[in-house]
Amino acid sequence: MKDMAQGPGFCPEGEEVKKMENITKTGRKKIPPRELRIKAYNDVRKLRKRGLSYTKIREEIYRKYGVWIDATTIYSWLRGKSSPYNGRRIPSLELLKPSEALGYVIGTRIGDGFSRETSYGYCITGLKAKDREFVEEFGRCIGIVLGREPIKPKFMKNEGTYIVEVNNKTLYELLKKPVDLKRIKPYVEHCPKCAAAFLRGLFDSEGHVRKEGYVYLHNTNYEVLVYAQKLLWKYFGIESTGPWPTTTRQGTIKNNPRTGKQYKANEDCYYIYIRAESLPRFYRYIGFTIERKQKRLEDYLRRTGKL
Ligand SMILES: [Zn+2]
Repeated sequence: MKDMAQGPGFCPEGEEVKKMENITKTGRKKIPPRELRIKAYNDVRKLRKRGLSYTKIREEIYRKYGVWIDATTIYSWLRGKSSPYNGRRIPSLELLKPSEALGYVIGTRIGDGFSRETSYGYCITGLKAKDREFVEEFGRCIGIVLGREPIKPKFMKNEGTYIVEVNNKTLYELLKKPVDLKRIKPYVEHCPKCAAAFLRGLFDSEGHVRKEGYVYLHNTNYEVLVYAQKLLWKYFGIESTGPWPTTTRQGTIKNNPRTGKQYKANEDCYYIYIRAESLPRFYRYIGFTIERKQKRLEDYLRRTGKL
């Protein structure tokens, strides 16, 4: 790769295009791996926006990654005719970027959502719930994370529930069971906005507002609740108590409020309470996407003169 030492502008554009198609300066045929192509693709688009010529763009990519992207490829990328994203838009966890949308998806998945591999090798991440705006928000956020249009919920008539599902290996790798807090931490704790979105997803799923205004969050995973408490306090100064064990013990018959079906609790459950004096902060910084929950909290705060 010595030749670049001669500096940019060494090759006239026309000649270089012919000589370099898919061939590195060492003369070896080389197709850059997909992750590298994706990075190069994003750079190519940025550089073109800054007004660089094809030659300059190619040189810049070579300088950064040590590979020559041929001009036809650049042309077709810039025209939107092809992209290294084909099929699987985010090929590895390393390329998944933190965002509020991703924070919300993670929080929801740890709550009501699911992520599983099917026998056909599909990696399905999804959410099924009764509240339309909740599933809609999940679909919107998944769309942002994957660089797609919002995914519209499907209504399941028999169950009266809405569902959003996507097949994506990278998301599955991040969200698969068992929940690994270390794996999600860099995304959740990227900034206060990401943390708030994560908590909102979690509270939309498993948070409840009592008629008296108390807000609590339950989960079968004790660590998740401790983690939620830590985030609430660290980023938003919201105090909570617990985790306490619920009266639900393994084997207890329970009613699923979403589907109306009875089921046998197969795990112990815990909950935390938001302290009453922290509720205005909770409303302001976290809140609920689910309207009936948000309204109940708002009504309580108004009634008690806290809003
Ligand atoms: Zn962030």
